[in-house]
Amino acid sequence: MTTDKQSKDSTTGLQVACDTAVSGCVFRMRTEADDKERLLEMTREHVRERHGKDVSLDEIEARHVETVEVDLEEADQ
Ligand SMILES: [Zn+2]
Repeated sequence: MTTDKQSKDSTTGLQVACDTAVSGCVFRMRTEADDKERLLEMTREHVRERHGKDVSLDEIEARHVETVEVDLEEADQ
């Protein structure tokens, strides 16, 4: 037997989307709020490799990171 009571499980997460700044790029990442450092660093790495630009972690956080509701089931991949 299964229960369907878990569909309301959600938590606050972070999402970064490169395409807000550079058209044509669909880089997008989602992570738990705790993982912000890693999210910022991976995004910086992406921007450097793909776009040849050096951006600071502060800049990424200020311009590209948004807070989102994350479905726990969806996050479990
Ligand atoms: Zn990009």
